[in-house]
Amino acid sequence: LKAVLLIIGDEVLNGNTLDTNSNFAAGLFRENGIHLSNIITVGDSRQEIIDGLEYAFSRGSLVISTGGLGPTKDDITKATVAEYFNTTLTLSNEVLETIRDRYEKRGIPMTKLNENQALVPVDGKYYINPVGSAPIFRLKKEDKTYFALPGVPREMQYLLEHIVLPELKNEFMKEIILQENIMTIGIAESVLASQLYSIEELIEEANTLDHYFKLAYLPQLMKVKLQLTARGKDEAYLTEKITEFKNLILPIAGEFVYAKENITIEEAIGNLLKERNATISCVESCTGGYISHLLTKVPGSSSYYHGSLISYDNRLKTGKLKINTNVIETKGAVSKECCFDMTSGGLEFLETTYILATTGIAGPTGGSDEKPVGTVWIGVGNKDRIETRRFLFSRSREENIHIFAITALDQLRRFILGLPLRGEEA
Ligand code: AMP
Ligand code: MG
Repeated sequence: LKAVLLIIGDEVLNGNTLDTNSNFAAGLFRENGIHLSNIITVGDSRQEIIDGLEYAFSRGSLVISTGGLGPTKDDITKATVAEYFNTTLTLSNEVLETIRDRYEKRGIPMTKLNENQALVPVDGKYYINPVGSAPIFRLKKEDKTYFALPGVPREMQYLLEHIVLPELKNEFMKEIILQENIMTIGIAESVLASQLYSIEELIEEANTLDHYFKLAYLPQLMKVKLQLTARGKDEAYLTEKITEFKNLILPIAGEFVYAKENITIEEAIGNLLKERNATISCVESCTGGYISHLLTKVPGSSSYYHGSLISYDNRLKTGKLKINTNVIETKGAVSKECCFDMTSGGLEFLETTYILATTGIAGPTGGSDEKPVGTVWIGVGNKDRIETRRFLFSRSREENIHIFAITALDQLRRFILGLPLRGEEA
């Protein structure tokens, strides 16, 4: 089954809207073993949509479009697609009632325009939209299958995952797909790839007509997700092989593995803390609360995260943390000494099992030859031990802050597990 995405919308072409719909759909397709052959973007015009459909169906037998299902005049996807499939639109009372219901519940008067959204193709199949007003619909001609989804990302995502995907699985995909993830941090994709070279060969050798295995490297800032996919008919065999490959990869990726399932580093930290009944607090300078934000994004984090001090200005460092003014004057706020004092001061002031401290220069200004932009000192400690390390990253301000934060979380993971810490001691 080859799929093509048809992104419809002037707003995407004129730069007002970033096309996140394709990114979401492409990821979901990959995870579910649907081969996406093309992504095509066209404007809200009859001819462009028809040309787009024409080309899309020359590339694959399944076309999914997003956009142009709204109630306004510029939303012409439905009428155009009906024309392409030689059908007409008719008013569905069922859809009309659900739209009316929706508006009543929200206390908004329904307009004549909204009634347009209750028009559905005569020859197709439609599905009520539980998260919006535009119904989605499906058309078929010979071996061509078409789904129309609204452009609003929240609706599109829900409908693709909960309505379209189950339909596709049911009809086209009799294969079993298994996936295993290994999450790494602090090791470059190229280094991992060279270390895993022989295992990749093994994986390739296991491919037969009936069984397909693949290892994908999915890099993000500082992290690489190793994703193993197994596809075929014999579930027991697929499970056995994918487990075998995973167990070969794990010892090689070694201390860089922060999780054996698809979770974030902050979730992994949460698990480590919960297992130990321990708490974490931070003293954040250059990260400005970003580590705290990551930690508290995790549901249930209140059981191990009680709060932090964002000592962005030196007055909070010398005040609440009782850091000697002399240290800041002679060594500077971005120094091993200040980082050490922030870590030890935070341990006492915030009464926590573990502490993380950051002081650095996110940029783009504020650097010097001795302390260039991207320099960060990260402190980690508990009542028995305090460790400080220096790192240098050279990214934009936003990326630096993100990297500082997840490097700090990784440092904490290593500290808790007794693994070697990263970074320079001086
Ligand atoms: P539409 O279904 O074309 O009326 O789109 C409704 C809204 O969804 C638009 O105003 C856009 O903000 C958003 N949207 C449409 N297409 C996309 C897309 N490909 N990616 C992200 N947002 C989109
Ligand atoms: Mg649109």
